[in-house]
Amino acid sequence: MTNGKYDVVVMGSGMGGLCAGALLAKAGYKTLVLEKRGQIGGRFSTEVLDGAYRFPTGAVYLHMSGYVPEIIKELGLKVELREVPEYVCRIEGKEYELTGRGRFRKLLDIMEKNHSERGDRAASFAMKVPAEKIMNDFRDEVMYTVNHPGKKKASLYNTTVRDWMLRYTDNPFVHDLFDTYCTGFAMARAHELQASELFFVMGRTAGMTDVWMVPHGNITVMQELEKVVKTYGGDVWINTPAKKVVVKNGVATGVIIEKDGKEMEISSKAVISNGPPRHTVNLAGEENYTGEYLRAMRTKMRPHPCIFFAIAADKPLCLEKGQKAGLNLIGSRRIQAVLPVTNVCPELAPPGQQLIYIIGEPRSTIEPMDEEYEIEQCMLDIKEHFPDFEKHGKMLKIDPRNLDHDLPESHGWETKSYFLPVTTPVRNLYSVGEAVTEPGIIGTSGCAGSAMKVAGIIQRTLKPSR
Ligand SMILES: Cc1cc2nc3c(=O)[nH]c(=O)nc-3n(C[C@H](O)[C@H](O)[C@H](O)COP(=O)(O)OP(=O)(O)OC[C@H]3O[C@@H](n4cnc5c(N)ncnc54)[C@H](O)[C@@H]3O)c2cc1C
Repeated sequence: MTNGKYDVVVMGSGMGGLCAGALLAKAGYKTLVLEKRGQIGGRFSTEVLDGAYRFPTGAVYLHMSGYVPEIIKELGLKVELREVPEYVCRIEGKEYELTGRGRFRKLLDIMEKNHSERGDRAASFAMKVPAEKIMNDFRDEVMYTVNHPGKKKASLYNTTVRDWMLRYTDNPFVHDLFDTYCTGFAMARAHELQASELFFVMGRTAGMTDVWMVPHGNITVMQELEKVVKTYGGDVWINTPAKKVVVKNGVATGVIIEKDGKEMEISSKAVISNGPPRHTVNLAGEENYTGEYLRAMRTKMRPHPCIFFAIAADKPLCLEKGQKAGLNLIGSRRIQAVLPVTNVCPELAPPGQQLIYIIGEPRSTIEPMDEEYEIEQCMLDIKEHFPDFEKHGKMLKIDPRNLDHDLPESHGWETKSYFLPVTTPVRNLYSVGEAVTEPGIIGTSGCAGSAMKVAGIIQRTLKPSR
């Protein structure tokens, strides 16, 4: 076995891993970033499909009020970003453009109007009363979580979002609307998510409405981070899995990796894992962890499964006017978010061609999904909502990410109860990425935030060798 020596080894090149690697390399630490796959970026990368379509491997949007812009600024990354200004909802076949705050209220008003236009006076009246009350009570509950951090109201004990809504209405459209918000913001279905968790996440993400895209593919951002690691004397190795974290007397002292078919031990002052905590525990050995950590890991990690679809088309299948927007389908079987990404970034497909990114949310965010059945349900939605799909569309990829996939839509529900700390019971072994983000700071932004946290701890506790 050959040996190598670094100050810091990062296992994984996702948003958390590469941000941590780049921040530490710039701070003077000799850094090695390992990636087991054939390319960097994890769920914020680009896969080329059919030779010419640059499809995201996970995230599409960056939140510009989150931690990613802070890192872009701090590291002086040269990245092009494009704003996604609009937001469109399709309700009962009609599309409504919605921007800024107060979308819930506007959507409830639209539903009520639809009922009355159909001459359904009873339904319209039934909608009117709870719409007002739902919004007032919803605002109060969100403000309560903002003003009383850590407290939980007795009236919400063991109450799911669906149960909370049933206190006001059994109108299926209103329930569908809240379900869409639950999966979009909290990564859990309304009948499985505690209401207090939704109120918390709505309070935390209230200002995060500005989203941006990367015109030439997400991998270009990750390549900029890689460049920083290398500029400051570090290395990034793809096709190189970390097989074991070496732990001596409760302290991480390096990793064993497989490179070019050979095992190699790399010693380091600190090890950072960008994989899910279960994977890190397997690498470092369960015997090195406390019972408390293992219990928290088993109860808090709630992966959110999803299926995502890459569709190419020779004409727009939705948002035909070229609106730079995401389309939300309210009341569909499974498909909730449809992003015609070429409306914002035509560079992602050959000239004149469309690339459409669709996420299907399985019925349960707790049970493993029956992939065949869930794909079937999604396909029914696609055919119903986009009648031109069969003539003008081509399915480039169907990518189911079940509960045990290492790159699910999220590792934990995006709420306050489902995260672990960045520190582990093993000294000098840290976690970054989605499983250890600040509660309520969702997706890539939270991953970048966890990297800043870990880079800060390492700079306070370990000296770089240079
Ligand atoms: C369909 C979908 C849509 C999403 N939409 C959005 C969105 O619009 N906006 C947003 O902000 N977020 C979104 N997200 C979430 C976002 O993609 C993730 O939060 C973020 O990219 C995860 O980054 P991470 O740091 O956890 O690393 P990951 O992306 O999980 O990457 C971890 C990397 O580590 C590697 N690795 C693991 N173990 C090892 C090992 N032993 N050795 C070497 N390498 C290893 C893996 O191969 C992987 O490349 C979405 C996710 C999905 C799947």
